[in-house]
Amino acid sequence: MPTTVAAYAATSPTARLVLTTIERRDVGPHDVRIAIRYAGVCHSDIHTMRGDWGKITYPQVVGHEIAGEVVEIGSEVTRHAIGDRVGVGCMVNSCRKCENCLAGFQQYCLEGNIQTYNGVDVDGTNTQGGYSTEIVVVDDFVLKLPDAIPYEAVAPLLCAGITTYSPLAHWKAGPGRRVAVVGLGGLGHMAVKFAHAMGAEVTVLSQTLAKKADALKMGADHVFATSDRATFTELANHFDLIINTVSAELDINAYLRLLRLDGTLVNVGAPPEKLGVRVFTLFDNRRSFAGSSIGGIDETQAMLDFCGEHGIACDVEVIAIDTINEAWERVLASDVRYRFVIDIETLKAEAPAA
Ligand code: NAP
Ligand code: ZN
Ligand code: ZN
Repeated sequence: MPTTVAAYAATSPTARLVLTTIERRDVGPHDVRIAIRYAGVCHSDIHTMRGDWGKITYPQVVGHEIAGEVVEIGSEVTRHAIGDRVGVGCMVNSCRKCENCLAGFQQYCLEGNIQTYNGVDVDGTNTQGGYSTEIVVVDDFVLKLPDAIPYEAVAPLLCAGITTYSPLAHWKAGPGRRVAVVGLGGLGHMAVKFAHAMGAEVTVLSQTLAKKADALKMGADHVFATSDRATFTELANHFDLIINTVSAELDINAYLRLLRLDGTLVNVGAPPEKLGVRVFTLFDNRRSFAGSSIGGIDETQAMLDFCGEHGIACDVEVIAIDTINEAWERVLASDVRYRFVIDIETLKAEAPAA
């Protein structure tokens, strides 16, 4: 018998999120049931729910930065035990057979990985995300959380963390490399912390200087305002790597021109609009324009372990679930410092009988 659990869902792209219930499947031999403690609020939750990236299935429960405790395991589960602190990110399964899956890049599964929400699970049901009290996930897509970091500060690592760690590691942020991070939101603030920990010289490119003191505390060496056109002349031909986390359309050529010889701009921000790259901007300095999507399961575990070793956590504002609609508006207004995280106890309190 499936379990009925409390959740917050929306029923259309314009509807507010409201209290509801959803079903979680029985724990199969390889499944883990997690009592969710905290769920991070990613800008992708908003893009998805509001239909920015295309039509979705409603009602929909989003949330793919899930931290909680194992409360039940299937008979074949050996890597997790009841009471373990665990996390779930953007994927809950993949085909496991294609060349990308076999190489550990489940995020690039050639059959399409199964997303934590708005996906179709192997049993044909629609996946529903972490704005809920419990989730059941197959064991190898469940990550181990570092002991030293509280649940609320670790939850956003499951998306914002891995999405920035992966390209920084792949494009070798490190000593002697000049790295710029565009946009200081959920992803951006983690990019700054990781790039600094990896030893790179880190510059933040934010719309204004309002977040400068915070950025410097996170490990940035320099902060520039993109509203000041002088920034683009001063920093021309300067960076080895730019991580663009901006959720909206940008004049991407202006940012590409900040790359020095063989530099790469990696777009992790996912605006619905096309970005108009001029090839001549790429010809100069033999520049590259790239994209990157979250990270594989082993890499996500490596990122979590790296955070444990280096004491890296997210800067969060914990919210009660009944303020989620206002929190989303603040994310859209770039008014988040630096990740909203829902305390799922507040959901349990709203729905004690669920
Ligand atoms: P966020 O917290 O809202 O941060 C985005 C930041 O971009 C804002 O804080 C703001 O920084 C800047 N920004 C917003 N609107 C802007 C505009 N119109 N012009 C210039 N700058 C603007 O969002 P997030 O959760 O970090 O997500 C960022 C993007 O990454 C979203 O599109 C999300 O869907 C995407 N994403 C992609 C992946 C992936 O796998 N590639 C994974 C997760 C999320 P300042 O105030 O500092 O300017
Ligand atoms: Zn996300
Ligand atoms: Zn695959």
